[in-house]
Amino acid sequence: MQWQLKCPACGIEEVEQGAGPDHEAVTVHPDRDSHGSPLGTRGGYVSVELTCAAGHGFDFVVSNHKGAEFVGVVPRT
Ligand SMILES: [Zn+2]
Repeated sequence: MQWQLKCPACGIEEVEQGAGPDHEAVTVHPDRDSHGSPLGTRGGYVSVELTCAAGHGFDFVVSNHKGAEFVGVVPRT
């Protein structure tokens, strides 16, 4: 099973990671119950900085909290 991300702003499929090396686009945020993820979930999450070919920036976020796993995209402001 797989899903291909599209830009949440314009819907195109041509999406790239940040301008630097691939590994620098990925950030692991440690689990802290008092902090929320960009998806609104509590606990740890991983975010990947992405930009579409038209220049829209957004983060792909994978989070988990107490046995539930979430994936989503959040526009970067
Ligand atoms: Zn776009």
